[in-house]
Amino acid sequence: MDLGIHGKIALVTASSRGLGRGCSEQLAAEGCRVAICSRDRAAAKQAAEEISKKSGTAVLGVAADMRKAEDIRRLLEDVREALGEPEILVTNAGGPPPGTYASTALEEYEKALNLTLMSAVHLIHGVTPAMKTNGWGRIIAITSISVKQPIGTLLLSNMARAGLTGFLKTIATELAPDGITVNALLPGTHKTSRIDQLAAFRADQEKKTPEAIIDEMMSANPSHTIGDPSDFGAAAAFLASVQARYLTGQNILVDGGNYRGLL
Ligand code: NAD
Repeated sequence: MDLGIHGKIALVTASSRGLGRGCSEQLAAEGCRVAICSRDRAAAKQAAEEISKKSGTAVLGVAADMRKAEDIRRLLEDVREALGEPEILVTNAGGPPPGTYASTALEEYEKALNLTLMSAVHLIHGVTPAMKTNGWGRIIAITSISVKQPIGTLLLSNMARAGLTGFLKTIATELAPDGITVNALLPGTHKTSRIDQLAAFRADQEKKTPEAIIDEMMSANPSHTIGDPSDFGAAAAFLASVQARYLTGQNILVDGGNYRGLL
């Protein structure tokens, strides 16, 4: 299916690796003009080159830290200057550190809100004026299965993503008349360095090996497997498509059936 987004300008943040990278690769494969970022300039440039080689489309790699509003402002300026106004935005940031209520220090809460919630708010504020003018836009936020089913060892992530989900649902209604869709994609368990980090944390707590934790994750999943960033990126590309114009304000799980709730 032609997704109708060839030539569209797409910004995917926190995307040198993992799920952001998976989204960038799929959008580049659809012919989008993609900008990616990570905190490390060399890593962003190298990932951009690799995606570009694979897709045959030029990809821009920029250094920006999603914890810093100033970096986000500069990132948007760099993208505008090099490519133009983003028409597709995928918001992402590294996840907050794992921890329980007992292990989480009070000063960590505000940092998590800044990283996971406010980075998306700043990015969306930056791109919506031009999307409104054009009468077309796609906003996709990478959140987590934890917004439906909080994860005990991820207190900060559970809290910040719940706030982001409320923000997204509210603005989806407000932006719909402007042809802008706003959706969240909720990863379950995909093989990325984040999952290695979480497996190491649980392994330490449960006195097991990280490999044993990953095996447990796989056998607990109805698909008996772990997702690949490309599975996730394919769902993001569809949400960015022209065909998805009537799909907004939704939280869509990409989890191999792991979530057991009805809605
Ligand atoms: P990852 O660690 O594999 O990749 C994170 C990417 O973000 C890297 O490119 C890294 O350079 C970049 N990054 C990290 N901190 C950044 C910052 N402050 N500013 C800019 N870039 C930054 O992680 P992932 O698995 O791709 O996860 C992406 C998001 O999805 C995270 O918020 C994670 O918590 C969430 N998530 C992932 C899974 C999963 O299965 N992998 C499940 C649920 C939620």
